[in-house]
Amino acid sequence: MNKVIKIAGAGISGLSSAIFLKKFGFLPEIYEIKSSVGYRFKGDFQGFENWSSDKDIIDILKDLELDINFNFIPSYTFKVCSPKRNLKTFESKERPFYYLIQRGFKEGYLDYSLYKQVENLNIPVYFNCKNLPKDIKIFATGPNKASAIILGINFDTDYKDINLMICDNNIAPKGYAYLLIVNGKGTIATAFKKNNNNPNVYLENSIELCKSLFNLKIYNQVKFGSFGSFSDENIFEKDNKLYIGEAAGLQDFLFGFGLRYAILSGYLAARSICENTSYTNLAKKMFSNSIKASLVNRFLYERLDNSKYEFLINKLSYQKDLIHFLRKRYKFNLKRRILYPIAKKILL
Ligand SMILES: Cc1cc2nc3c(=O)[nH]c(=O)nc-3n(C[C@H](O)[C@H](O)[C@H](O)COP(=O)(O)OP(=O)(O)OC[C@H]3O[C@@H](n4cnc5c(N)ncnc54)[C@H](O)[C@@H]3O)c2cc1C
Repeated sequence: MNKVIKIAGAGISGLSSAIFLKKFGFLPEIYEIKSSVGYRFKGDFQGFENWSSDKDIIDILKDLELDINFNFIPSYTFKVCSPKRNLKTFESKERPFYYLIQRGFKEGYLDYSLYKQVENLNIPVYFNCKNLPKDIKIFATGPNKASAIILGINFDTDYKDINLMICDNNIAPKGYAYLLIVNGKGTIATAFKKNNNNPNVYLENSIELCKSLFNLKIYNQVKFGSFGSFSDENIFEKDNKLYIGEAAGLQDFLFGFGLRYAILSGYLAARSICENTSYTNLAKKMFSNSIKASLVNRFLYERLDNSKYEFLINKLSYQKDLIHFLRKRYKFNLKRRILYPIAKKILL
């Protein structure tokens, strides 16, 4: 049996699958096109979404024996700003809505921390790799088409910690903007569906809104921009190669969360190689229903104009247990099964 497993891409999914493969007794090698890991991220705050599974995401990762050697901040509360600038606060008593992590190559950040695990396991990572070896087994090369655009800034501030989501089609058409501040470090970003307008205007509007809402002072701002891809026709395997993370189109349709998919698909690919079982079957079993449910969620979300956002945010603010409400929306239940073919036809 060939124990050397070559992986293209040293992102979240590629690093994770290498860690699991090594623990299963294989000899993974990673080939990365950039000069370091986390190249497209500069300390941006991102959230490990924690409602789509019955179990807490950090417990899931611990059960897989992944070292949780990165900083993660539980968020039990967040605010939502409506188009009319009403602020509602949502709280979860049961468990965090999400865990905030930072992305990029710095101690404590997710990409750096996974890379350190890879380094400690003596897994070779070949950077600046322009020509991939022919016998790559796992493709972990991230997004390949822009379904959604994300523009943002990272900055320093003296404002207190806050988690804010903004729903307003003038600021993030069919998407959302957000402001996250932890210990004087902040991210403002707007994530929206690709359209023909100038995307920078959405970012400028998001920044201006955050400044005016909280009298926010922003220092040392650094801009970032990226895109995400998702698909329900997930290609998990082709020509005997395995595709993981966003390379397989794995991302939540509604809000673009891809971190949990990246790590878990990395694990499943490693497991399928170790057990000589079908990765496609394992991945479909774990992901298909939640991806399909999230497609229906996006379909419903895209029906909302600003007045419906206003109504919905107000209505949800009376929900006692929003995390429970969200979890239900990720079950592929009868309603979602009925709506799914329509959502698919219209959105994809
Ligand atoms: C601005 C932004 C905010 C986001 N916020 C969230 C969030 O809050 N929560 C969440 O869950 N998800 C979020 N996501 C999505 C999440 O970041 C991705 O789903 C996740 O990083 C995907 O991991 P991956 O390993 O598939 O891809 P990546 O992390 O993108 O890694 C791919 C790697 O492959 C390398 N590569 C590419 N092509 C080649 C090649 N030809 N050869 C070799 N190497 C190659 C790249 O350089 C990169 O290092 C966000 C995404 C963006 C852009």
